[in-house]
Amino acid sequence: MSSSNAGITPAPAGTPPSTAWHTLTATATVESLHTNVHTGLGMPDVQRLRAEHGDNVLETAVKRGPLRMLLAQFTDVMVLVLLAAAAIAAFVGDPEDIIAIIAIVLLNATLGFVQEYRAEKAMAALGAMAAATARVRREGAEHTIAPQELVPGDIVLLEAGTVVPADLRLLELAQLSVEEAALTGESLPVQKTTAPTLDADAPLGDRTAMVYKGTNIASGRGVGVVVATGMRTELGRIAALLRADTHLQTPLQQRLTSLGRWLAVTVLVVCVAIFVTGLIRGEPVVLMFMTAVSLAVAAIPEALPAVITVSLALGARRMVKHHALIRRLPAVETLGSVTYVCTDKTGTLTENRMHVDAVRTVDNQPGESLAAAVPLSEAPLAFAQALTLCTDVQLTKDGALLGDPTETALVRWAAEQGVEMSSLRTAWPRTGELPFTSERARMTTVHATANGAHRVACTKGAPERVIPACTRMWQQGALVPVDAAAVMAYAEAMAASGLRVLAMAINSDQQPTGAAIESLEDQQVLLALVGLLDPPRAEAREAVRTCHTAGIRVVMITGDHPATARAIASRLDIIKDGVGDQEVLTGAVLRTLDDEALLARVEHARVYARVTPEDKLRIVTALQSRGEYAAMTGDGVNDAPALKRANIGIAMGRGGTDVAREAADMVLLDDNFATIVVAVREGRRIYDNIRRFVRFVLSTNAGEIWTLFLAPLIGLPLPLLPIHILWMNLVTDGLPGLTLAAEPAEADIMERPPRPPQESILAHGLWQHAVWVGLLMAALALGTQAWAIRTGHGHWQTMTFTVLTVSQLTHVLAIRSERTSLFRLGLLSNPLLLLAVGASLGLQLAIIYVPVLNSLFRTEPLSAGELVLCLAVSTVVLLAVELEKYLIRRRGLYADPARSP
Ligand code: ATP
Repeated sequence: MSSSNAGITPAPAGTPPSTAWHTLTATATVESLHTNVHTGLGMPDVQRLRAEHGDNVLETAVKRGPLRMLLAQFTDVMVLVLLAAAAIAAFVGDPEDIIAIIAIVLLNATLGFVQEYRAEKAMAALGAMAAATARVRREGAEHTIAPQELVPGDIVLLEAGTVVPADLRLLELAQLSVEEAALTGESLPVQKTTAPTLDADAPLGDRTAMVYKGTNIASGRGVGVVVATGMRTELGRIAALLRADTHLQTPLQQRLTSLGRWLAVTVLVVCVAIFVTGLIRGEPVVLMFMTAVSLAVAAIPEALPAVITVSLALGARRMVKHHALIRRLPAVETLGSVTYVCTDKTGTLTENRMHVDAVRTVDNQPGESLAAAVPLSEAPLAFAQALTLCTDVQLTKDGALLGDPTETALVRWAAEQGVEMSSLRTAWPRTGELPFTSERARMTTVHATANGAHRVACTKGAPERVIPACTRMWQQGALVPVDAAAVMAYAEAMAASGLRVLAMAINSDQQPTGAAIESLEDQQVLLALVGLLDPPRAEAREAVRTCHTAGIRVVMITGDHPATARAIASRLDIIKDGVGDQEVLTGAVLRTLDDEALLARVEHARVYARVTPEDKLRIVTALQSRGEYAAMTGDGVNDAPALKRANIGIAMGRGGTDVAREAADMVLLDDNFATIVVAVREGRRIYDNIRRFVRFVLSTNAGEIWTLFLAPLIGLPLPLLPIHILWMNLVTDGLPGLTLAAEPAEADIMERPPRPPQESILAHGLWQHAVWVGLLMAALALGTQAWAIRTGHGHWQTMTFTVLTVSQLTHVLAIRSERTSLFRLGLLSNPLLLLAVGASLGLQLAIIYVPVLNSLFRTEPLSAGELVLCLAVSTVVLLAVELEKYLIRRRGLYADPARSP
């Protein structure tokens, strides 16, 4: 989001000024909205308010309906030129041509429309899947709903990482801070309160009892009541902000657009040359004019960028089936360039199904002594009870545990020790808290007995954060001075076996009730160490191996202990024992390195442990300065800057926050590392297919241009009529071209190095291929023409036309792979393409042999011998391309010496 409010347009005239909700007390707000903070609205009210206020959405993008999309197909400049030229031609000469031309244009527009419509649908579906959700209280229960269903009066629950779904007046909060840069330009999070701001004209940033749609909860929790939805929110008033980034071209599209322009100029020059030479040779002006225009229309690849959008969008839709949700289209094309995958550990490489594996007393006794309760005067608290109190786990109606897997594992274990969560929480209600953050790596909750006589602070967190703050420890039923070094050593040993270790401490003294919560994290009593086991995902190891063969480095970035991280990393082969130079870098060390020193270290680091989200930003920046192309995962609010910075930012669909998802290019719907690898593979495949399409289009266009350009130079009459050119390009080529997108991935797709992001799409011999194949096609067509004329075959034009058409079809079969022979791939491995080639061939035969079409397309039926000859000549292209592939395989033709695989 923008960090400045420059460019914000004023509210449209007539927008009613919003009620000054920030000046009302919480109670007054709730009353005036006729709602209830504990139960929320009832469904009848919700329905009535929804009818009255409409959806909670911003009306920004003007949606293109199908009709507009269809009409857009005809507003293409080149098509208009063609239609105009045909109209002129019909007027001055040949009225019949225009029917065929219009039919071809219609057919072409339909193909284009169907593709674009599918792409748009796919993108809309993806957009809906990527949307955030809102947690509300309605009819006395908590629900997760789509944010557009919110109505004024809804009670919304907020927590760190939520994108605020509507404008809310806050009713309750704990340490709530909100990042409001999008609205106010203030980049630091603002601490919220529930007290009203008295000044009705206070700027948004000062209305601390309000949170606004589109801002992000940076930390803490809160409850608020919806006061405005949709276009009536503050964000709605400046909705122009959201128009950003909708019609951006992907890098590939930009490059293709400029390539297209260059080709257009070349083609136009050639067309003028063909026109002029035709006139010099005495051909009719109208015919030459139509030939030049048709060739220009056919050979200028102006649709290339649009085809890219379609393949990317359809590719993105396919990727959802593999649980990778694309949020920004260019990510599909750039996935294939990834050289580094920086991944979280918990839940991504591991299953996130934790269970308590070991509980150790501070003197490393697996122990019974834990059952003893720490005496807090008359209200003792046992270790398992303290552990349970110090969690945010919720109990669902059917008794399931809801919350962070680390915490649900702890509560489950405590329950097995006989701790009953609900009654414990009633006996020791929570009176304060310092929530968990990755930076603090611990959390503290404060509880008082129901009668207020006792107060206790329970802290759990990373051992190195908790243990140093303890002065005493609970050992065999007595309080003794803490032996920090010994306990840390136990903790290290537990971590080295791959366990996630937490230390648990309490502050059991009779604290003055007014003491600041922060001070309760000092002078504590250490109770015990807990080790949790989170097994690596079964498929992760294989996925890491695939990355390695694909030239991609995998790096683990975790908030966990270095010993735990190393243990898991070696189980997954991210670190290979015995391979030198691979290191585990901790956040503490990282922070002592300046940027230059870090640059030298990132090359060898395979694991970063105990790092914070800020460190992630430095890591990704350092990798990029080394020329690497990094994908990075993240789930928290603070991960957002690193996700934005990464070349491919990846958020978690299940565990992640809305803020991380909004910042990401891709969302893993199953949070699984292996899905990243599948997405990279799919990205590579889609890029390959785009390259195939470009190769096909450029080669076939070159074939036609060479044919028409060379014919007069070698003294042959005009080989093709305008209608033939259009037919070939818009119909017989169109179908196979589109089905190239269905080409399956080549077997070695994950065995080649990543594609340099700046590499031209024409690299590795693509343009050379287009030139020589174009020349070959022209040579075959013109050779056939010359031979037919010389030997007195009256059908020479239909023969030339057929040779060109069919050689384009054999060509498309040959270029299905850049290296592998078609005979190895097998004809049936892309059935769709085979079908398209068959259909195109059928259409070609139809216009040769169906009498009505003969007159429309100016063709003549060929004899069996002529047809066989044409088909035989056309297969030369297939054989020649197979020879090229053989040379690529054997001799490294077009290989880039700087990039040997
Ligand atoms: P990853 O980056 O692989 O997801 P992580 O989940 O361990 O790693 P964080 O969530 O940042 O990273 O946690 C950092 C450390 O904080 C943990 O290693 C653990 O010691 C401690 N910790 C994690 N969850 C809690 C919690 N709910 N309460 C207290 N401490 C916690």
